[in-house]
Amino acid sequence: MKVLWCWRCQQDLPMLDEAEFAEVARLYSGGFRTTPGQQSINGGFAPVTLAYERMTGYVGCHHNAVMHHRISMYGPPCTTCGKPLRTPQARHCAACGSTR
Ligand SMILES: [Zn+2]
Ligand SMILES: [Zn+2]
Repeated sequence: MKVLWCWRCQQDLPMLDEAEFAEVARLYSGGFRTTPGQQSINGGFAPVTLAYERMTGYVGCHHNAVMHHRISMYGPPCTTCGKPLRTPQARHCAACGSTR
């Protein structure tokens, strides 16, 4: 786990490494398999939020947001402003506009 700037959420948030992400991804796919009507709308995905909370200490992150809090989805930090590039392939920093 590593805290990085999330450009989707517009705040610093804990990002998961590959081992941690594999676990929440498994819980997330399990969320689709619950019987309709058996649980509340987010009930099937509650384990995703709880696992993220257990790993990072961050409470109440929406399960869809957890799914993009993955270190490998982001690029290296911008040399100008220090925010992570939006993707590992990004050529420009979306936050300050400088080229890589
Ligand atoms: Zn986010
Ligand atoms: Zn920048």
